[in-house]
Amino acid sequence: MKLYSNEENKRLISLLTSKGREPHSLVITGEPGSGRKTLARYFAASLMCDSKSGTPCGSCKSCRMLANNEHPDFITAVPNDNGSYTLDSIRQLVSDSVIKPNEGDLKVYLIPDLDRSGQTAAAVQNVLLKLVEEPPDHCIIIMTAAAKEIFLPTIISRVITLATEPCSRSDAEEWLTLQGRFQQEDIIRAAACCGGSFGRCIEFLEGSTLAPAFECAKDVVTAVLARDEYMILKAFFACEGKKQVLKEALGFLAQIMRGACLMRIGAKPEDCCWDRGAEMLSEKLSGTALERLYELMTDASQRLTLNCNQNLTVNTLTAQIYLALR
Ligand SMILES: [Zn+2]
Repeated sequence: MKLYSNEENKRLISLLTSKGREPHSLVITGEPGSGRKTLARYFAASLMCDSKSGTPCGSCKSCRMLANNEHPDFITAVPNDNGSYTLDSIRQLVSDSVIKPNEGDLKVYLIPDLDRSGQTAAAVQNVLLKLVEEPPDHCIIIMTAAAKEIFLPTIISRVITLATEPCSRSDAEEWLTLQGRFQQEDIIRAAACCGGSFGRCIEFLEGSTLAPAFECAKDVVTAVLARDEYMILKAFFACEGKKQVLKEALGFLAQIMRGACLMRIGAKPEDCCWDRGAEMLSEKLSGTALERLYELMTDASQRLTLNCNQNLTVNTLTAQIYLALR
């Protein structure tokens, strides 16, 4: 079982699982798409592997069942369509936990994306509290979320927390190639745009948000270079009615502006989604204008997060960009 990057996590997991000191409760944090579920599966594989070496061997029955998503003792909680968990489904999971494992001597429960559960996140943790406080010997529970702040103090004080470690663009390219269903040029484009986030790369290639957001960002940069207010507005209005696309486009634009700022002082940006765009901006605009544009993109993104009206945000932003270019 290959886990990219995460060298520190691998070292810690090996230490914890090879000496029989495994924690019964684990929290994994990281941005969506950063490999939280893969890290959870790796941790489970390290514990359940017949080799008991602290590193999954990849070839024993347990490792093979985990790799094929068919291990009967690795149980993943399934949320509703809106991402939240019903308390009944969590209560059922807790009562299932007393039943002995089917295969080896451990059962691992994964409750992913607990932060997406919104208002029920705290209630879910209250149901899980007893299991976290007094788990049966055979029971391990893993929860994932973007940040550990969403966990109750009573939970977080009883768990080990691991944060996913970033992967590189070349890791993402290698992994996407191994999936065997993408063209090489698309892989390179996705990895350039989304860096080492495997989940975002897949969204870029197959989803409906990141690819149009990137196109919008490129059109805005072209319009900025032409100093054409109408073109800027038109480029933003390609996202009309699609707030998430606009938000991602602003994220890409902030990256490009920051990249251009760095290029102006002779530094090379490491995480810019469009190097060529940043380069053209750095040649045509002053450092002050670029810094202002970066601020404007991050502020507008913040306003969308606060639920401000999308058309109003775009109109204001366009006027502000035009002013910054004068
Ligand atoms: Zn194994």
